This record gives sequence, C-alpha cells and structure tokens, in this order.
Amino acid sequence: MTRRISGERKTAFYLGTVLMIVGGLLFASTFVTFIANFGDFTNFESNARSQMVRALAGMALLVAGGFLRGVGARGLAGSGIVLDPGRARKELEPYSRMAGGMVKDALDELDEDLVAGPRERVVMIKCRTCRKLNEEDSKFCQECGAEI
Ligand SMILES: [Zn+2]
Repeated sequence: MTRRISGERKTAFYLGTVLMIVGGLLFASTFVTFIANFGDFTNFESNARSQMVRALAGMALLVAGGFLRGVGARGLAGSGIVLDPGRARKELEPYSRMAGGMVKDALDELDEDLVAGPRERVVMIKCRTCRKLNEEDSKFCQECGAEI
C-alpha cells in the first residue's frame, strides 16, 4: 500500500512549481520593460536582445517547470514518460486511494436509509391491563399474560 508520495517526487513537484513561477516572472518582466522603454530608442538593440533572451528563458523555465511538476505529481510511469502500466498503477495509487476515500466519505454523509434500504417498521400494541408494549402479532401480553 502506497498512500504517500515519495520525498523525491515531492521535491520534483515543488521545484517545478518554483521554476514555473520564476519563468512566469521572467516572461512577464519583458512586458514591463517593453512598456517602461516604450518610445525610448537608446540602446534599442541591446534592450531588444535582453527582452528576447528573457522571454525565451522564461518560456523554457515554464515548460521545464511544468514537466517537472507533472513527473513529481504522477511519477515517471504515472505521467506516461516510462511505459510501464504496472509501475504507473503503483505510482498513481495515492490518487486512486484518494478518489476511493472521497467516494467513501460521500457515502458516509448520505442518509443510512438510502444506502441500506428502508428499515422495517415495528408496530407495538399496548396491553390494556399493564400497559406493557407487545409485538403486533402477539395474542397474550408478555408481562401479565392478559389477552390482547
Ligand atoms: Zn399486560
């Protein structure tokens, strides 16, 4: 039973997240400098080159980060990089268990009658002599023996 994701995969996942954030910021920074330098043509060539490099590096980091996140979250086989369904099943087991657990939780919340079916209703008859409750089909009182 593997309910937990290994430390390496967690590290890869969070590292991927960081790479994506850095890549996104780098990519966004090109727009900021583009607007800041708008109409300013001094160092035009080097500014354009810097923007191009940052945009490409940002995109590369976003792609690499996304890849790393996917592998971290689902494992090498689970994310389809290594073709091994048996290993994929094992790597995805925490998610399968999560899904099963969520179904179980949902069923727990349901009214028990909905799952188990309606319960049989029990009708009791009160004895006229001693007032003890007896079952519907009894002829004599269980307590005092009087006829019902
Ligand atoms: Zn009775």
